[in-house]
Amino acid sequence: MSIRWKLVSIYITLVFIVMLVSGTFILIRLNSQETENAQQELKQCALYINEQIIQEYQNPDDFQTGFENLFLVRSQNRSIQGNILDSSGHTIASSVTNDKNLFTDYKNSVVISALAGKESFGSSSRNIDLNSYIKDWISYAYPIFDGSGKTQYVIYVQMDGASIKESLSQSAGTILVAVILALILAGILGLIFADTITSPISVLTNGADMLAEGADEFNTIDIPAIPVKSDDEIGRLTKSFNYMSSKLKKTLSELKNENNKLEIVMHNMTDGVSAFDANGSIIHANSVFYEMLSEIKKDINLNELLETVNVKMEELAPDVTLEKIIKEKEKYLSVSLIPYTISSKQVEGVVAVLQDITKHRRLDDMRKEFVANVSHEIRTPLTTIKSYTETLIDGAIDDKETAIEFLNVINDAADRMSLLSKDLLELSKLDTKQVKFNMDKISLVKLTEDCIKQNIIIAKNKNQSIKFDKPKKDMIIYADYGRIGQVINNIISNAIKYSGEGADIKIKAEEKENNYQVIISDNGMGISQEDLKRIFERFYRVDKARSRAMGGNGLGLSIAKEIMEGHGGSIKAYSQPSKGTDMILIFKKP
Ligand code: ADP
Repeated sequence: MSIRWKLVSIYITLVFIVMLVSGTFILIRLNSQETENAQQELKQCALYINEQIIQEYQNPDDFQTGFENLFLVRSQNRSIQGNILDSSGHTIASSVTNDKNLFTDYKNSVVISALAGKESFGSSSRNIDLNSYIKDWISYAYPIFDGSGKTQYVIYVQMDGASIKESLSQSAGTILVAVILALILAGILGLIFADTITSPISVLTNGADMLAEGADEFNTIDIPAIPVKSDDEIGRLTKSFNYMSSKLKKTLSELKNENNKLEIVMHNMTDGVSAFDANGSIIHANSVFYEMLSEIKKDINLNELLETVNVKMEELAPDVTLEKIIKEKEKYLSVSLIPYTISSKQVEGVVAVLQDITKHRRLDDMRKEFVANVSHEIRTPLTTIKSYTETLIDGAIDDKETAIEFLNVINDAADRMSLLSKDLLELSKLDTKQVKFNMDKISLVKLTEDCIKQNIIIAKNKNQSIKFDKPKKDMIIYADYGRIGQVINNIISNAIKYSGEGADIKIKAEEKENNYQVIISDNGMGISQEDLKRIFERFYRVDKARSRAMGGNGLGLSIAKEIMEGHGGSIKAYSQPSKGTDMILIFKKP
């Protein structure tokens, strides 16, 4: 039940109780007043009978005549009956009828006490009337004494009580109407009164509801301040509410901001982060977390995660980070499990951080491979040098011809080693950006022509032709002449090396919309798709023995790639085994 209706019903109940008590009180007062009046009237009537009949007529036989003269009118109007009884209580005269035979003996307590000399009042409900229906009577008996002080006559008067009852019930009716009217009025006033109290409360309640709704959704919906209309408790409550809601709004917006910041940080992290509570349920996780563990469902719990990384719950200890590396599909993930405590010393949850370490792993593998390759590349010429030197020491030196042949082999091996160290040094410098390019405006067409010139003899030795398809317009680039020359030379020499006798090498320089390109094509042995992906890797050679036999160490293309990229350009390779290879050098336009 609302406060409004509670107030109204309390109000109505109060008014009802007050009306009931006061009505009852009024009725009781009225009743005693009426009875008193009636008694007074009865008493006067008795005195009147005494004066007008007993004193007047003296002789009891005349008393009835006296009544007939006196009471005829009165008794009809006032419903008062008068009787004169003798000392033994028999009626000797009455106002009711003149038929003495019908006189009734009144032997009630009032009469008896009057016979004993004491006047008294009484009430009775008896079938005393001739019309024989029950009436309530109020009676009074008054003794008349003779000279010796004995009761000579008793005047017995009685009055019909119906008139009192009637007036009482009339009053009760009036009071009832008043009560009903009062209740209706109380209801209306109560409603108005309750409204004045409850309407500001319901405004406050609505405000509080809106606030709660907003707080629920972490939204700071704009709730206008509730107007303060009074200075009473409700007014003060409204003021406090407005203050509280503005504080709450501020706190909520601060919280939201903090939350947003956290969300932004979490969302833009490259690591996957998730947090689990003491029950192992997930509290929060960023999208990267789910992306990394592709098989995992949204509501993953701690147990499932531990199972994935193969860790047992018992291994988790407060504030001890546990690190595991797992393989998810093609990726290597480092999983850090950080159990946390808040108040107690027990684990109250776990934060899990996932890092994609595939790149690190690959780099690590590449580093290991590189070291192995370098040592291998050094060991081969070293073995050659050592074995030929030993043979020379063992006596071959005495045979001049053999000695010279051996020394030439040793010289070649030493050359290879020095070339290797030169290339490695260069790569390392390119890696660490220590190489300073001598940038200048140069003609790409002229540079290509120069490179062709440098290689033409070697090509001719293999009966190969080099054709240059020159553009009409010169192509000027901003580059290091020597370095780019090194790249073009390397590519042309590869084309010669990896193509057979009589092959055709075509070189084309052309201007594209966004860049300049030099395309070196041969119709040699070509490269399989599998190998093509890796030819720019350090030490990668399709056919190691062949490459080595031709003086290659597998570093040429990786150096070329670094130089091209150092100039803001790139290098691409297209090839089909036994058909030929196209190497495309792409240069930035200045
Ligand atoms: P290398 O010193 O072995 O020539 P590169 O880095 O210059 O090293 O080339 C890497 C590998 O790519 C070579 O060993 C060779 O197998 C392959 N290659 C390069 N150019 C060509 C080409 N024009 N035709 C076929 N294979 C080639």
